[in-house]
Amino acid sequence: MRIERLFLEHFRNYVHQEVSFDPVCNVIFGENAQGKTNLLEAVQYLSCGHSTRAKNDRELIEFQAENAVLVGEILARDRDFVLRTELYREKRRKLWVNKVPCKTSSELSQVFQTVFFCPEDLLLIRDGAAARRRFLDNALCQLRPRYSAALAAYRRAYAHKTRILRDCEEQPGLLDMLPEFNERLIQSGALVIHYRAQFTEKLAAIAASNHADCSGGKEQLSVVYKTVSTIQNSLEELPVLTQQLRAHMEAHRNAELASRLCLSGPHKDDLLVEIDGRDAKTYSSQGQTRTAALSLKLAEREIYKNVTGEVPILLLDDVLSELDPRRQEFVLNRISGGQVFITCCEDDRLPVLLGGKVFHIFAGQVTG
Ligand code: ATP
Ligand code: MG
Repeated sequence: MRIERLFLEHFRNYVHQEVSFDPVCNVIFGENAQGKTNLLEAVQYLSCGHSTRAKNDRELIEFQAENAVLVGEILARDRDFVLRTELYREKRRKLWVNKVPCKTSSELSQVFQTVFFCPEDLLLIRDGAAARRRFLDNALCQLRPRYSAALAAYRRAYAHKTRILRDCEEQPGLLDMLPEFNERLIQSGALVIHYRAQFTEKLAAIAASNHADCSGGKEQLSVVYKTVSTIQNSLEELPVLTQQLRAHMEAHRNAELASRLCLSGPHKDDLLVEIDGRDAKTYSSQGQTRTAALSLKLAEREIYKNVTGEVPILLLDDVLSELDPRRQEFVLNRISGGQVFITCCEDDRLPVLLGGKVFHIFAGQVTG
């Protein structure tokens, strides 16, 4: 899989840009604040209709403009695809695959996938559970359209239930609807748990091997999926998970009514990440944190490859310059076999190391 050409109009600081990429390695270099990360962000957006660093689509539209256009020419499964997205300030964005309008962004992900790694991904290890759930959701929404649909259904039911619990004192009649939304949460939630558990099992094995290689066999990384307490083994069949999640909901029913909050469920899930048996969030050093985060992201890419036969595009933002030579070498060895984009600052020595095409970015323009 690869992106061959990208066309941007009024996206971030790019007013108008067309660029053709190398099938293997693309080094994006330039001074600070010129548009290197913005370019990777555009590629990521085309793959999933989402940017990990933007809170909403409006942020992505150039300050002076009313709308932005992104078009990518993609080669995937030996076929050519044209992905197009239009973002507007005042209305909902529009997405197309080969001129056919898409209902959801998962239709983009079925064609084109990316794995994005940036310095903020250290938060994947350091931050609260929400960061790790975002990682799982982002990976699984690209990989499994059914997961994306289940997660959307779960979120809708969760929002409804939250409103019911909040407003039921003033409008007691709302409580009549609670069983229906609980059932929706159970059905979609069990599916969410099922997919997260299966994915984490594969992720844990590959990330552990990456981390061991990167640390010269000195450290052991373990990743364990944590969900609601009634589910002892999240790898059980879906009907078993559904049953156990139902028991969990029932056990929390009175407490939820008393607190008027949705207390527990897969919206509180976490990944327990440990290095040598100790919680990485609390005890790992800066270098260990970075290695663990990178091991997880590279594992994500490998899982795609194993599941779909296609290697997603790897977007490495400002990452290598922060690594010591040993880890740099590890990354450079591991990233081969698919298309890669790497950003770096003016005087890094990466372009020489990697070959491929080198793009200089200056003030929102690709200059060569
Ligand atoms: P660094 O080396 O510091 O990471 P960078 O080249 O990655 O820099 P980008 O994050 O791509 O820089 O941002 C480039 C510029 O784009 C910034 O100066 C930012 O202010 C600008 N920018 C961000 N959003 C918009 C927008 N919606 N419209 C216009 N410009 C924007
Ligand atoms: Mg940047």
